[in-house]
Amino acid sequence: TGVIRTYIETLLDMPWDRVVKEHKDIEYARKILDEDHYGLEPVKERVLEFLAVRALTKKGDSPILCLAGPPGTGKTSIAKSLAKALKKPYVRISLGGVRDEAEIRGHRRTYVGAMPGRLVTGLKQAGVKNPLMLLDEIDKVSNDYKGDTFSALLEVLDSEQNRKFRDHYMEVPVDLSEVLFITTANTLQTIPRPLLDRMEVIEISSYTENEKLHIAGRHLLPKQLSRHGLKAGQLSLSRAALGKIIRNYTKEAGVRQLERVIGNICRKAAKEILETGKKEIRISERNLEKYLGKEKFVYQMANTEDEVGIVRGLAWTSVGGDTLQIEVNVMPGSGEILLTGQLGDVMKESARTGISYIRSVGETKGIADNFFKEHDIHIHIPEGAVPKDGPSAGITMATAMLSAITGKKVRADVAMTGEITLRGRVLPIGGLKEKLLAAKNAGIKTVLVPKENARDVNEIAAEITKGLEIRLVSQMDQVLEAAFVKEKE
Ligand code: ADP
Repeated sequence: TGVIRTYIETLLDMPWDRVVKEHKDIEYARKILDEDHYGLEPVKERVLEFLAVRALTKKGDSPILCLAGPPGTGKTSIAKSLAKALKKPYVRISLGGVRDEAEIRGHRRTYVGAMPGRLVTGLKQAGVKNPLMLLDEIDKVSNDYKGDTFSALLEVLDSEQNRKFRDHYMEVPVDLSEVLFITTANTLQTIPRPLLDRMEVIEISSYTENEKLHIAGRHLLPKQLSRHGLKAGQLSLSRAALGKIIRNYTKEAGVRQLERVIGNICRKAAKEILETGKKEIRISERNLEKYLGKEKFVYQMANTEDEVGIVRGLAWTSVGGDTLQIEVNVMPGSGEILLTGQLGDVMKESARTGISYIRSVGETKGIADNFFKEHDIHIHIPEGAVPKDGPSAGITMATAMLSAITGKKVRADVAMTGEITLRGRVLPIGGLKEKLLAAKNAGIKTVLVPKENARDVNEIAAEITKGLEIRLVSQMDQVLEAAFVKEKE
């Protein structure tokens, strides 16, 4: 019957012992990676080291690379170049939203409409048993009642077990041991520990405006031009126009929207050339609106006035940095703490830590003994598009509360990030580069950064820190000193 026929065809299509020879030339790999990508030097270096080690050791021992970073930062594209460099077929398996173990391991053939799992399908598609297989968005896998997707993936990525991978549909073991697996993830937080332990993580961070300009000019524009059948001379985009696209028509850590917007322009230009017979279209800052319509993003700029109880914090999210405004009101009441808006559990905890700290130093700050019994404190974080959670808003919340309680104004051009302890110590945080970029875009002048992050500050390119005053703080008193508006004497 049809079922058996499909099964046999699948068996025959499998590349049981077909292999390609791996091209082991590091210099060639470097050339390909450089041609296809601007910047990303540390990432390229790590990838080349990986290839070097791989050339020297037996394949089975090499760890699995995981490229981790926000969307559109070139993770997939690096994997593709790597396949090109090794002269191996490339297959991408998208794991985003996979919840059912059968998607990985296949259905038993007794099941109606049974199919092999995605790995077997991928291998069949590759046509050889040693392709480069990209497991895209491994952080977006989850478990449901239909079995354990993670343990299936563990088996896939384990060089001891994947020699005899069991796919329910295939029934005969499939050898995955010669596949070069590469994974990508937006965030490492949702990947279970055992899986993460099997991978060697290479982090890719957000691009700066300048980097985006270069990527657009050298890679995205030429790519989109040829995709739309245009020659380089037929459409030109001024540097200022590109800058404006980056700032006002896209908001992202990577360059995916940017590429899409450039594609839109190419489409419109192609139509215009056909309709009007123009030889060349030049797009500058001035006529950009004609092609793209009104600006989509105007950055939420720093508050223009110093205010009481409002402090700007900096957040790191899986799609890049953002600023978040924390608002605190104090009103007569009975000592209740209200938390509203977009607060995750970790944030709630650090709000409480902040309050304990404030109570412990109340006396030195001139707060009356019975203040907390007779007032309610309300902390609010306005909703943003991307959920944020983490301890790094600790000092921001504490500052906003102290400001609301004491009536002291907070400088509008200051932003801060740092975890707080009960004793008012400031602890280090992650994602500093993204946070500084966000602060800069929002027009912040002074950023308070935990002292223990000093090393990260030094590693961040001058392009980002230029124009920002970065103050290292280790105690809440230093935070308050910098954040509160000096009272005139
Ligand atoms: P990710 O997999 O990280 O989401 P992609 O690899 O899909 O991102 O990248 C989106 C687009 O941006 C692709 O067309 C890619 O080639 C391009 N791109 C990203 N980073 C760079 C870079 N550093 N140089 C050149 N092109 C890049």
